[in-house]
Amino acid sequence: MTVELTNATKKLCVIGDPVAHSKSPLLHNAMCQALGLDYIYFCQPIPCGQVKRWCECAAFTGCAGFNATMPHKEALVPLMDELDPLAHVCGAVNTVRIQDGKFYGYNTDGMGFLRTLAELGVNPQGKQILLLGAGGAAKAILAALAACGAAKITVCNRTLERAEKLRKIAPDRVAAARWEPQELRKLAEETELLVNCTCLGMEGTNTHFDDLSFLHALPQEAAVCDAIYAPPETELLRRARELGHIGMNGMGMLIWQAVLALKCFTGVAFDEEKAKQAALTALLSETVPSPDMLPCKS
Ligand code: NAP
Repeated sequence: MTVELTNATKKLCVIGDPVAHSKSPLLHNAMCQALGLDYIYFCQPIPCGQVKRWCECAAFTGCAGFNATMPHKEALVPLMDELDPLAHVCGAVNTVRIQDGKFYGYNTDGMGFLRTLAELGVNPQGKQILLLGAGGAAKAILAALAACGAAKITVCNRTLERAEKLRKIAPDRVAAARWEPQELRKLAEETELLVNCTCLGMEGTNTHFDDLSFLHALPQEAAVCDAIYAPPETELLRRARELGHIGMNGMGMLIWQAVLALKCFTGVAFDEEKAKQAALTALLSETVPSPDMLPCKS
């Protein structure tokens, strides 16, 4: 993609270590171009432990804001002048706006997930939810689900202590469970929404679910979401769809968190649907599109 620059073009970027794989420059440059916003977005490798130095550089060089990916999301929290409620609850920042030398921290991952869930026609309010995983993605999604009134969220994670730590987000509605096939099957029976936030099935990891038989215990109307977007259809999603469940991959979350981040950066109202379509088109144009690539497919 070609981005036109002027001396007034504002700078945005994504920091991480590693960060070269990030789709954020592609998504943000496509959205800015479609919306006529005079920003350029680039990729900025920042080594672990160097975020404080980076923040000073970013403010000094007039950067308008940045996104953060691993391993910087937690380290940014104490460096912010203000935090939005979800970033505060998660203890992680994925979006920073810099204005008049001040740093405003946001976490748009969880809201991005909720936006794509709404597109699937699923309202998590009052629902029994089973969340697999207790890492960064799980924490952001859990905070958003709790904030929008989920009845009960059970976090099932290989390392039980990590799941237990997440209970503090909403102690009356969040439970922790062991990562055992029998436990998963029992929990699945009561589940209305299943969300995978582990990296099992993710491209390049060579890790897979040993046992997906718990999917058979899900009620027929349960929806199944996978935070993973590469591959576009994981084994978990494929099997869930075969069993007749509506399913969603992580592509919608990836796109919506970027749309919401752009709103934080610019502070202007824009056509969100137009931004989303521009980002989706850019993403699909990078690979050979197939129906499986789409975020939602039943
Ligand atoms: P993370 O913080 O490293 O967490 C990884 C999670 O996977 C942990 O709960 C970990 O369990 C679990 N896990 C890893 N290997 C496992 C195994 N062999 N068996 C069982 N559980 C295992 O990573 P993250 O940032 O949360 O990302 C998790 C997934 O979400 C990734 O696939 C990523 O692509 C996806 N994601 C998507 C988006 C999006 O926009 N769609 C955004 C962020 C992340 P332990 O606690 O026991 O280690």
